[in-house]
Amino acid sequence: MKRIDFIKTAILTTLTLKAIKLNALNKLVENYDETEKMPVLFVGHGSPMNAIEDNIFSREMKRMGKEIPKPKAILMISAHWETKGTFVTAMEKPKTIHDFGGFPQTLFDVQYPAPGSKWLAEETKQTIKKTDVGLDETWGFDHGGWSVTKNMFPEANIPMIQLSLDYTKPAQYHYELAKELAGLRKKGVLITGSGNMVHNLGMIAMKSADFNAPYGHDWAIEANEIFKKHILAGNHQPLINYSSLGKAVQLSIPTPEHYLPLLYTLALKEEKENLTLLSDVLVGGSVSMTSVKIGG
Ligand code: ZN
Repeated sequence: MKRIDFIKTAILTTLTLKAIKLNALNKLVENYDETEKMPVLFVGHGSPMNAIEDNIFSREMKRMGKEIPKPKAILMISAHWETKGTFVTAMEKPKTIHDFGGFPQTLFDVQYPAPGSKWLAEETKQTIKKTDVGLDETWGFDHGGWSVTKNMFPEANIPMIQLSLDYTKPAQYHYELAKELAGLRKKGVLITGSGNMVHNLGMIAMKSADFNAPYGHDWAIEANEIFKKHILAGNHQPLINYSSLGKAVQLSIPTPEHYLPLLYTLALKEEKENLTLLSDVLVGGSVSMTSVKIGG
């Protein structure tokens, strides 16, 4: 073999080896990306005190956290982040937001130092085609998010981002946007809606303001039953058109922000997937803690 041919062969061999290594590496990355399909949750968050109290709700959240496969990251859709347009938190270290008043100092002292995830923020932005999703650097974790994850993942070591609710859009829009998130479930992302399907703070029963004691007004129980009937039947359209579901439902949704996260969760249910109801009680007369787990 001539010297020049030998050099050519050597270079080609090196390149081929590199190509093989790259292929193997790509395969590894693909395998890492493709996970079993993660469940989807809707969690009734109720009082922020559930973050620090030991009660039936916090215990159920803790149990859920142990039961599901460990997520690679969490995408949280909280009732407490409403914006014009759709945003995801994109900072590396989201702050813990104490967006409430009149609670003990111990609740204000709570920090949930889970990291953010630039990867998931970008991935969510790319996934959603319905609108241009903005990358937010100012929000963080509001109590709709951290009061749930502090129970589910107390070590705060799973990266989390929040997705905002566009308050200018109707329920149908939110439902359709949520459907675009389906692919994230196979990338190890736990999509979690956090709100309350019955939520009317103006009609809290003061005599039963103990949020650990199940108690619901008649209309609140009626509305919760209507919601559950449609959820269990997989009948989503009446839930999207909730304003046509009668007086009890209208009283239960004076403003839509605590209800919409439920639609995000339901939109991700595939036809033959299991659906389980959890923490299925009302508290304070007018708040439903009923939660939903899909798949897993
Ligand atoms: Zn809330």
